[in-house]
Amino acid sequence: MSNIAVCPGSFDPPTEGHLNIVARGLKVFDKVIVAIAVNSQKKTTLTTAERMALLKELFKGKEGIEIDAFEDKLLIDYVRSKKARVILRGLRTIQDYEYEFQMALANRQLAPEIETVFMMTESKFSYISSSLTKEILSLGGSGKGIVPPLVEKKMKEKVRK
Ligand code: ADP
Repeated sequence: MSNIAVCPGSFDPPTEGHLNIVARGLKVFDKVIVAIAVNSQKKTTLTTAERMALLKELFKGKEGIEIDAFEDKLLIDYVRSKKARVILRGLRTIQDYEYEFQMALANRQLAPEIETVFMMTESKFSYISSSLTKEILSLGGSGKGIVPPLVEKKMKEKVRK
């Protein structure tokens, strides 16, 4: 049986931090499904289709990666539907820890057969979040080292509109 992990997130936009977690996840799992969690109540900068297109381009040609999205359903139900048993999440700060701890415990209560696995961020990415990225890019700052050039270009196009 292959060892599949689901890496869920908003990816609004995808950052170097996300890419790092997924790349490292591939060292441990046979397959990593990068899954955009779409919440119809939440306003995003990039549409689901735009986030899918960016992620597909960023991981083009990489073996063991699938890009997908799921909407208005529990993460554990999505993970089960993909025949995966692991939720892969990144940890940056102590603030992440509190939130992730609560989510991991809730998911374990709902689906004891699914494990949440955390990977510690690389220190050079520890300050990167999608919201900080949006702020920097929308005010004209450089995305170098924060987001891939493709993402920076797309975000700057969006802001101009
Ligand atoms: P969510 O809205 O679910 O937190 P995000 O798109 O912000 O979604 O993050 C998706 C996943 O990527 C989370 O597990 C998050 O901890 C991880 N992640 C985000 N940024 C970084 C980073 N700079 N370093 C490591 N992991 C990160």
